Amino acid sequence: MSIRPREYKSRDLRYVPIDPLALTIRVGDIVLGWVENLSTRGLLIATKAQDLRAGEMLKDLSLHWHAEEIKLPTATVKRVSRSTHALGEVRLSRVACSFDKPPEDALELLRPAIQPAAYVTGELRREINGPGDSEPPLQRDLRDFAESGTPRLLDKCDSFYAYMRSLQDTGHYQSLYRATLTTPLDHRVSIYNPASRREEDFVCFDSNSYLGLHVHPLVVEATSQALAEFGYGTPSAQLLSGTNRHMRELEDTISWFHGRKDTIVFSSGYAANIGTITALVGRNDIAVADQYSHTSIHDACGWANPKRLRTFPHRDNAALHGILQRMLAAKPEAGRLIISDGVFSMHGSIADLPGLREVADRHDATLMIDEAHSTGVLGKTGRGLEQHYGCEGAVDVLMGTFSKAPGTVGGYVTGSEELITYLRFFANSGMFSAAIPAALCAGLKVAFEIMANDPEPRERLWENIHWIAPALTGAGLNVAPAESPILTVFIGDTTLLWQISRELYMRGVKCGNVCFPAVPPGEGILRISVNARHTREDLERSVESIQEVASSYGILHKNKDEIREIGEHFSERTALAETA
Ligand code: PMP
Repeated sequence: MSIRPREYKSRDLRYVPIDPLALTIRVGDIVLGWVENLSTRGLLIATKAQDLRAGEMLKDLSLHWHAEEIKLPTATVKRVSRSTHALGEVRLSRVACSFDKPPEDALELLRPAIQPAAYVTGELRREINGPGDSEPPLQRDLRDFAESGTPRLLDKCDSFYAYMRSLQDTGHYQSLYRATLTTPLDHRVSIYNPASRREEDFVCFDSNSYLGLHVHPLVVEATSQALAEFGYGTPSAQLLSGTNRHMRELEDTISWFHGRKDTIVFSSGYAANIGTITALVGRNDIAVADQYSHTSIHDACGWANPKRLRTFPHRDNAALHGILQRMLAAKPEAGRLIISDGVFSMHGSIADLPGLREVADRHDATLMIDEAHSTGVLGKTGRGLEQHYGCEGAVDVLMGTFSKAPGTVGGYVTGSEELITYLRFFANSGMFSAAIPAALCAGLKVAFEIMANDPEPRERLWENIHWIAPALTGAGLNVAPAESPILTVFIGDTTLLWQISRELYMRGVKCGNVCFPAVPPGEGILRISVNARHTREDLERSVESIQEVASSYGILHKNKDEIREIGEHFSERTALAETA
């Protein structure tokens, strides 16, 4: 017999037999009827018994499935609907009952016969029969698959696909990529495991919603109201009919929040960087970015002017000065843009804004800061890097995203009216792309107001950061100094990182697993994004798990070189095992 789940709600699984006649239910020795629906809370029976009444207790219940007999907990009749159901000539009643306690054993026994949920598609399908549980395959990185090396362009897709399948076969893919959440992304999440056909609980360190605003009741309410009023999209470019009153109110709110004159909204932070940098930096101009700046900044600079894109070593203002000096000696008329993340997305470190401003002034350069991870987080009232350093107005081109503390999707640039008017017409990713929906603009306006006016979520966030960072260090992990909610545990070797990530995943702790190309090769890190909604229990449990797993690989109380060496040995062992 096969059974299909009708609904997947967190820990309230509901199973519907495809062939109800195959699953009978008895009271003692008497066949009562057939199960139409069984969940952790209760069951629905189709029965000939006409004398069942609401309130009646059904003891000694058992399910019969093939030759199996499965005892059920006592159930109480809640509702009886008479003569609603016909089986051949026989009239049946439908009886809804609730259990005294969840029938875990019964559901467990039936689990193998349950078809996977409707969303088990693509790579998830491969795990239905249970992934392996061995060490990861020989580590390769994305550079190995960037070129086909043959006239067939799609050859590289074939070889990459084969590699991804080997990751699936060892069970690593699911813990690293595209885990399927069945609850909102939050400090705790449920993830559907296609192998066990179960939703499993995790403490989650992957959310960028540092203040939890994506589930804030006021934000959700404002979004819902505008959704009902404006529908679910605004499918037109902003310069045409994609601008509405909610978009304008959001632009004004962001300008007020950052103390600027005007703001342009993009459909993502990535699009904001691409559009802005390609609009500003021409063929004869120079862009110099911190080496650890976000990929969208590197992509945009390369796109705007591949010949004159330069990076400077992380937070090294003296090196930045030297680079500008050399480049401008050769091309004194070039326009010049300095770009840096405010908080670096993969390292959690903070840019030295006063130092960058000084270099910019020395070279008459424009300064652009990506405030994706600092808005709402840094500064007394969450205004970001400028407020953190007490140098309001220091940034010429202030870019931010809605995908971090504001809690949804989209990006923006705020600045002078002249700058923003120019971007409206020259930033192609804004001009030639649809506007974000009015409902999101309405929710975002409230989110920015909360960031400015309610210190409580930010205080909780920093309390959490100040608790977990020393706890991780005290546990012997190699953790970079905590300057932001992004904490990093150094692991180095990618194969070891995957293994540790997977073991943490099996223990119900979901961290970011950051390797090349997000960081340089051999610099892999566990990325722990703390948010205001994490409880002390979440943090304690996670530190304990991370410590246990790290200890089993001998990387506690070690410096980076020692950890690298341990990782290399681990990789070599894995490679040997694979070739054996
Ligand atoms: N800049 C930084 C610093 C980021 O971390 C990110 C996203 N991780 C982006 C830009 C891109 O933002 P979005 O996700 O909104 O496209």
